Amino acid sequence: MLTAICGINWGDEGKGRMVDLLSSDYDVVVRYQGGNNAGHTVINERGKFVLNLLPSGILREEVVNVMGNGMVVDIKHLVEEMGRLQSAGIKITPANLKISDRAVITMPYNVMQDCLEEARLADKKYGSTKRGIGPIYGDKYMKKAVRMGELFDLEMLRERLKDIVEWKNLTISNVYNAEPVTLDGMMEYLTEYGKKLLPFVCDTGLYLNEANKQGKKIMFEAQLGALRDIDFGIYPYTSSSNTIASYAPIGAGVPNLKLDLSIGIMKAYSTCVGEGPFTVEYFGEKAEELRKAGGEYGAATGRPRRVGPFDVVASKYGIRMQGADEIALTKLDVMSYMKEIEVCVGYELDGNVTTEFPFTQKLDKYKPVYVTKKGWQADISKCRKKEDLPKEALDYILFLEEQLGTKIKYVSVGAEREAYIVL
Ligand code: GDP
Ligand code: MG
Repeated sequence: MLTAICGINWGDEGKGRMVDLLSSDYDVVVRYQGGNNAGHTVINERGKFVLNLLPSGILREEVVNVMGNGMVVDIKHLVEEMGRLQSAGIKITPANLKISDRAVITMPYNVMQDCLEEARLADKKYGSTKRGIGPIYGDKYMKKAVRMGELFDLEMLRERLKDIVEWKNLTISNVYNAEPVTLDGMMEYLTEYGKKLLPFVCDTGLYLNEANKQGKKIMFEAQLGALRDIDFGIYPYTSSSNTIASYAPIGAGVPNLKLDLSIGIMKAYSTCVGEGPFTVEYFGEKAEELRKAGGEYGAATGRPRRVGPFDVVASKYGIRMQGADEIALTKLDVMSYMKEIEVCVGYELDGNVTTEFPFTQKLDKYKPVYVTKKGWQADISKCRKKEDLPKEALDYILFLEEQLGTKIKYVSVGAEREAYIVL
């Protein structure tokens, strides 16, 4: 059984929270793309955890966690993240964490490049998380990246890195007038952190194929939403990798296997971190109210998230891109304060309304078309059954389901593991 947990919107839909909940039925959880630009917040009986690189299954002792070849790994960050969890009593050993030998290492000069480029762009910046993700994926496709498996032979690695550092310094010194890095410095860095990670590095594709053959249940955890996918998202305000579910088998190292189920995680309203068009954006007091109610501040960066009402047009597109079979609707409890609830059901341009998500560069021209639903104005955070929900809340869910043409199977009404309803 191969299941993908993916984001329908702009990210931060509560994927980590749903992986933590649904992984109780799974043997393996795999991250297949992205790096430490992710921030998944999980709250369960063991405490509150923010995961950037580690799969969210790490919080369940019996689950094996895999970091796939599609990921970019900041090894210093990973060592620190593992340390943080271990001090909180979470067990991490080569038995429950496996890192792909083909995963690429995010280097300190990639982080530097990310910061230098955002500074150069000034008010035209992309809204990068400045964790070096764009530059390292660029290096990967230029074939100038170091992979985890290379840490096993430092002599050979030094030979290859010599050329890479020489090449990278051309950009750092001549394009940005910044201080070049040294080969010795980079080798020291790789040796120090690499040493701690080597026991975890293996051929994870082989491991996953074996696990699948033995009938183990495998869950793929996406890092960002559909609208941040490099091909299908709001390019260039996307991430630098494929976030969509169909990439999961590739980024995990099992391109020979097919997904059985894609579960789309969708927020009951809209949020977006970073730059780029965001058609349903609220401003001023209306925005502040929703942001406060939802605690919408980035888990990785602390940045206030941009907020707005639910967007049917963008979400329908996200569902298509994810091939989502069913939906988990999260943070419905956040909307309990609303007297009336706006839902965007179309985009308007020059008097024409479309329900198909437009090409990025046209997006800014569109205005949202709203319908208004009645709010429930009651605390729903204790609801655990469909029958517990106020009529207006159920109406809202059914309205979204009808608009999207996809079954909403789970509704989350709180950040805690047990705060959810199965419909
Ligand atoms: P991810 O990146 O998709 O994993 O999502 P984040 O963890 O970045 O953001 C989701 C935030 O909402 C986290 O702080 C969660 O603890 C919280 N959260 C998740 N589900 C719910 C919910 O149903 N209700 C409330 N109030 N908070 C939730
Ligand atoms: Mg997040």
